[in-house]
Amino acid sequence: MGPTSGSDDTQQGDHVQNQMVIERNGHMNDSRSAQMSESAEQKMIRASGVVKEYRTGTSTLQALKGVDFSVTKGEMVAVMGPSGCGKTTLLNCLSGLDDVTEGQVWLEGVDLATLSDKQRTESRARRMGFIFQVYNLLPVLSAIENVELPLLVSGVKSREARDRSREALRTVGLEQWATHRPAELSGGQRQRVTIARALVNNPAIVWGDEPTGALDSTNATEILTLMRELNRTQGLTLVLVTHDPGVGAGCDRIVRMRDGEIVGEERPSGEFGLDGLGVTHGTEDSVQMPSRTAQLTRELYGQG
Ligand code: ADP
Repeated sequence: MGPTSGSDDTQQGDHVQNQMVIERNGHMNDSRSAQMSESAEQKMIRASGVVKEYRTGTSTLQALKGVDFSVTKGEMVAVMGPSGCGKTTLLNCLSGLDDVTEGQVWLEGVDLATLSDKQRTESRARRMGFIFQVYNLLPVLSAIENVELPLLVSGVKSREARDRSREALRTVGLEQWATHRPAELSGGQRQRVTIARALVNNPAIVWGDEPTGALDSTNATEILTLMRELNRTQGLTLVLVTHDPGVGAGCDRIVRMRDGEIVGEERPSGEFGLDGLGVTHGTEDSVQMPSRTAQLTRELYGQG
């Protein structure tokens, strides 16, 4: 990211903020709005010609080979494909966690490349939620304290953070467990806490990377059903990276990847089909080492 003067930063921040308010209200109310294209109004995320290369030593690996992709507001999309095909890389590039080598990504009509690092971090803290298998709970904090993290790092006052976190725990059916630490919760309950944390900032879009990978089939189905309900009742946009066909089956759309490219898509009309599936990745990842989780918290939301 190139250097940006303070005033430019502020103006651009205001622009982003205005646009976010417009989008959040679901309608446009001033003349500037007319300048926005129809696609900007309806697309939550749009990517065009995205290439991502990783350089290791003298060799270069092209993890994404010119991906075009978009997600409409209120959609629940599964990105599927075999291990190593580029799913996580795509999610990282679309959410602005990682820079693209070539191509463009727009979040709610705003080109991510035009934002400074600080603005991208703010955009994540305000507009995005993350449910990552590897990004989990701090064992020393209670459920409600874990949920508060993204609010506190983005400067929300502690009393408001506590109220909003309690409300988010209520949404996932865990209000009674607010003061319990992760070790006192089941795997399914822990993942509900991570969903509450992903929702607490009232995000426009939630990214999930193998969100049910550490759960047994009963808990996985419950968590997916909850995500579906939030998608339907609150219009939450969800993009779930998974290699599990049972997850894709209940989504609006499955985007298939292979070898760094999108090779097809389909619209399933089924239910989440996790019956009979066991735990796929073990449950021991549900609580992370504090230092790793703290680092990921900084990566995702920055530090206040
Ligand atoms: P998936 O999520 O589908 O399993 P990834 O996006 O994690 O796939 O990886 C796509 C390809 O990019 C793989 O070949 C992987 O080894 C490579 N890759 C991912 N991250 C890095 C990195 N930080 N450095 C080098 N290569 C990477």
